[in-house]
Amino acid sequence: MKPLIIANWKMNKSVNESLSFFNQIIDPLSKINSVTTVICPPFTSLSELNKSIAGTNIKLGAQNIYFENNGAYTGEISTSMLKELCSYVIVGHSERRTLFNESDLEINMKLKAVINEGLTPILCIGESIESRTNGNANQVIGEQITKGLEKIASINNLVIAYEPIWAIGTGKSASSEIAQEMSVIIRSKIHELYGVMSEKIPILYGGSVNSENIKDFVSKDDINGALVGSASLDPKSFISIVSESQIQT
Ligand code: PEP
Repeated sequence: MKPLIIANWKMNKSVNESLSFFNQIIDPLSKINSVTTVICPPFTSLSELNKSIAGTNIKLGAQNIYFENNGAYTGEISTSMLKELCSYVIVGHSERRTLFNESDLEINMKLKAVINEGLTPILCIGESIESRTNGNANQVIGEQITKGLEKIASINNLVIAYEPIWAIGTGKSASSEIAQEMSVIIRSKIHELYGVMSEKIPILYGGSVNSENIKDFVSKDDINGALVGSASLDPKSFISIVSESQIQT
């Protein structure tokens, strides 16, 4: 499977800063065709960046959506609006689950909206440090998958990002062994629900990935790429992460 590297910029970079980042990465990344690269900037940068990616191998994603298509939902953005601007959408990031109380039901509705519009959802799952210490990590992951994907018949386009909460933004990534072990558990859960489709689902690792540890993660059999937060904000660091990911090709 072609490695997939997704940048999650979170609430960082103005439109001008986003364009300046793009100008620095376009040439180096255009030489790397063996890795799929996706940038998820804030909504405000999507329109301008969409013009910049024309003719390049870089794809765009959004960091969130609302599940309704249109109507009186002040401040929200729908998948039909995003469809003109990007092809991926992050759903269920742990910051949204905790800071904005997003439930598995809401995540399920968002996933359905993204899939119905033909966009690719990146479903984020991951356990807290308490769940890991108590030995409940597998159960938490299993429930997030079952509830998140409830009554979703087709997962042709799904991407899953395993992001243990204790590794996000802490500078302390999970070991590649833990990430691989959890990816196997995730793949077997998907197999239970969808059969052989599970072999085609990219499973990414996320949590303090950087240019030094990326190679270790993507060299594991069941890790097909990474979701990168802070290390994706600096063009040099991001180019180096994408470049180091070429290992699996
Ligand atoms: C993230 O927020 O998805 C993430 C992985 O962040 P970081 O790389 O900064 O840990």
